[in-house]
Amino acid sequence: MTQVAKTDVDYLAAAEEMVRTSQKITVMAHLNPDADAIGSTLGLTLGLRSLGKQVTPLLSDRVPEYALFLKGAGEIDSELPPDGEIDLIVCLDSAGIDRVGRIYDEDPERFLRHPILNIDHHRTNPLFGTAYWVDAAASSTSEMVFRLLRELEAPIDVDAANALLFGIVGDTGSFQNGATTPGSLITAGQLLQAGADSQGIAYHLFERKRFAAARLWGQMIAGIELDAARGIVFCFMTQRMLLESGATVDETEGVAEYLRGVEEAEVVMLLKEDPDATVRVSMRSRPTVDVSAIASALGGGGHRQAAGCTLPGPMGEARRLLVEAFDALAIR
Ligand code: 5GP
Ligand code: MN
Repeated sequence: MTQVAKTDVDYLAAAEEMVRTSQKITVMAHLNPDADAIGSTLGLTLGLRSLGKQVTPLLSDRVPEYALFLKGAGEIDSELPPDGEIDLIVCLDSAGIDRVGRIYDEDPERFLRHPILNIDHHRTNPLFGTAYWVDAAASSTSEMVFRLLRELEAPIDVDAANALLFGIVGDTGSFQNGATTPGSLITAGQLLQAGADSQGIAYHLFERKRFAAARLWGQMIAGIELDAARGIVFCFMTQRMLLESGATVDETEGVAEYLRGVEEAEVVMLLKEDPDATVRVSMRSRPTVDVSAIASALGGGGHRQAAGCTLPGPMGEARRLLVEAFDALAIR
């Protein structure tokens, strides 16, 4: 008999079966959660609760200010429930189980004691878990969660619709970047029909900012550097800038996307200094360049046009490593 390759639909069916047969479900997404991590976590939590399941949403790091308007965003836990309270762990938007962050790092053994379902759209996902459904063609994990909830025939109320649209709008950059697929727009249409508030979402995600944040952007943008030969724009955020502006690191969200429009470059490398002096790198690129290759080479990962990694400091050393990886991969 010939072996028939499993399709996306088969993986979705397996995921659906696993969720359907579990009652106590812990749902989590990656550290430093972005809009898709938060939206998919809340959307799945609310959708499964409406099916009568006992669901615990979890994140290793706190929910950023810009997402707190979402229903349930203030009630996301930060510790695993006791073993007896877990039938299934669902990892969302996590391109590797270690991407869960502190909750995983504190006690990885606990994750071995439960079935894990890995639902993600990062093409660098190593396919961990008892079962996985990884669809690199999906705009976002939130879009995948919508498909899963439909498959489960879960009612999607206004709050779940808002959470999922928030995730889709976040990962597609408001339907402007390469993740903008027919699926993302069709799903968004269905979420609008379910009552999602697209204008409110766009405001919270892209427009609303504190005065301190606008000042931080100013400081960061004033310090950008162009590596014209390689086509890279570098941007730096130091702990000192945070102190001077009174803004937080979450409030740098959007700077890298803004700089992607600099026409002399194809790549943006945003280097953010952590309090412990390590450097968080966020890379963005135009369609011609694959920054996930650079991130992966340096122990990180992500998508073709949006990827990241964490490097040892100081800033100059991190920059040197990035340039070295860029040159080694002969990106240009
Ligand atoms: P951001 O720059 O917004 O932090 O991340 C961009 C994308 O790359 C996101 O999809 C994020 O999940 C992924 N990413 C960022 N940092 C890492 C990392 O250290 N490891 C992996 N595997 N993915 C990352
Ligand atoms: Mn995502």
